[in-house]
Amino acid sequence: LKKLANILKITNKKLEEVANTDKLTGLYNRNFFDKRIVQEMTESDKNNTPLSMIIYDIDHFKNVNDDYGHPVGDEVLKYHSSIVNQLIKKSYYAFRLGGEEFAILLHNTKLDEAVLIAEDIRVAFETNIHPVVGKVTASFGVCQRSHGESFVSWYKKIDRALYVAKNKGRNQVVSYKKHMLPIASLSIEWNNNWNSGNEHIDSQHKDLISLAIHISDLMYSNASYKSVTPLINTLI
Ligand code: GH3
Ligand code: MG
Ligand code: MG
Repeated sequence: LKKLANILKITNKKLEEVANTDKLTGLYNRNFFDKRIVQEMTESDKNNTPLSMIIYDIDHFKNVNDDYGHPVGDEVLKYHSSIVNQLIKKSYYAFRLGGEEFAILLHNTKLDEAVLIAEDIRVAFETNIHPVVGKVTASFGVCQRSHGESFVSWYKKIDRALYVAKNKGRNQVVSYKKHMLPIASLSIEWNNNWNSGNEHIDSQHKDLISLAIHISDLMYSNASYKSVTPLINTLI
């Protein structure tokens, strides 16, 4: 009977592991995220320790699938996940929240450190060139939870930071700021339908767009009127 109880214990543990793991990437799954997050928040409030989270989303992942097929897309998700697994400390948890969106829960970690960790991962994605697909980057949102803050409120902030990272051109880390606008500044990406057939003209148009985005960024970051005016004149 003792033997049987032992086998049952091991089997249960294995079952639990399977239930908590994302099949494709081997990271923790959404199911475990939901459980773990409650525990971490409770602990953080009780012990007054900082708790931060990174959410990242692969950039233009649809293109990877479109260009190389879904199985190769899957490989890229695995490739990125193994990079993350190698980079982060054992006390941190990395989750696949769904699709190509991931979270890293940073126990006992303040915002500054969380941003550095996100930046390390961003650089690792940028520099580890996938043998088939090439460079695949990601955008990151980061936020430290306030004491007693609800999950929904905290998550919204990280999501907003991620949204801004995407809008500012992707492949970057953005941490949540109090007065962060719900919508990032101007975001225009070159559309191939705009190609005129004349490289010189296209390049001028692209410069105009870059300048307009730059001006909009400055205005959103409360740059002085004096510093923006000459750029507007140039644009005109
Ligand atoms: P963005 O930079 O704005 O995030 O662009 P994106 O193309 O990454 O974003 P979008 O959300 O439009 O596309 C995500 C794609 O991820 C769509 C879907 O086909 C793909 N995807 C989601 N889950 C999986 C998966 O498990 N395997 C593969 N291969 N693709 C997946
Ligand atoms: Mg994406
Ligand atoms: Mg996505």
